[in-house]
Amino acid sequence: MNDASIEVSGLRKRFGPTQALDGMTFSVAAGTVTGFVGPNGAGKSTTIRVLLGLDYQDEGHALVCGQRYAALKYPLRRVGALVEAAALQPSRTGRNHLLWLARSQRLPTDRVKEVIDLVGLDSAARRRAGGYSLGMRQRLGIAAAMLGDPEVLILDEPFNGMDPEGIIWIRGFLRSLAARGRAVLVSSHLMGELQGIADQVVVVGRGRVLADATVDELVARAGSDRVLLRSPTPSEAAAVLQRAGARATVTDRGTVIVGGITAQRVVEVLSPAGVAFSEVTAQRASLEDVYLQLTGGATQYRAGTQVQP
Ligand code: ADP
Repeated sequence: MNDASIEVSGLRKRFGPTQALDGMTFSVAAGTVTGFVGPNGAGKSTTIRVLLGLDYQDEGHALVCGQRYAALKYPLRRVGALVEAAALQPSRTGRNHLLWLARSQRLPTDRVKEVIDLVGLDSAARRRAGGYSLGMRQRLGIAAAMLGDPEVLILDEPFNGMDPEGIIWIRGFLRSLAARGRAVLVSSHLMGELQGIADQVVVVGRGRVLADATVDELVARAGSDRVLLRSPTPSEAAAVLQRAGARATVTDRGTVIVGGITAQRVVEVLSPAGVAFSEVTAQRASLEDVYLQLTGGATQYRAGTQVQP
């Protein structure tokens, strides 16, 4: 018995000559935000569409709340989804759109006001949706996804078109959902958007998982933590550090880049040796560095847009 809220296993899917999914496998636990990140064309939307029963896989399985989406009895009460800027009737107000959805899904209409407040759409909710910005349509889409107060939320590129205020809001909103025990899967083609909100990051490329880890594990895996050292005698400092087993390179700016030991250890080695220094700084590999390392070979679908050297 697997208690994952979302379980994707061995998904394969071909569109003509394109292998969109090639063994996609991961799971999402309740109470967590899982980032689903990879370059355009990596298979994120296809995976999400299969999860929601909007498309069909050739092989493998995709379960939400332990079942196929199509088999869920009251799907909107179990799973909320934002898959693309909501298909809206431009003449209908945001509020009426939500009322219509609630009635059609037999959800209590009192919930409409709650979700409008939840996504901060208050004043706009009585205006015609045809005049909404993309960011407002994203908020309306999230309000719709929240109508059934679902235990699983799946959002495909929700940051697209959001202004900075909207991005801050959505980050806090997703964290608060996880804190209330919900399972959240959120896709993005930008790693930076997920830093600070994702507990777990599933990095994908060419239809399969390249890494599935916490943010800290991913950064540690890059193994490129370095220490920057400034000293009036850089060559002497480097020699002392090398004798202590560290890697140390003097740059043409006269700083020393140290690898293989911590910043604290650098101080412990240099001080008794009488080597002066003015700065010792630990430099972490950024999540973005790790992402580029992981996906560097997986960007074939963007080849046409890459600038040739
Ligand atoms: P992502 O969401 O990561 O950008 P997608 O799942 O949209 O990736 O696409 C994965 C691959 O499948 C891409 O090469 C894309 O062009 C292709 N693809 C997706 N949907 C279709 C479709 N309906 N018809 C043909 N090819 C498709």
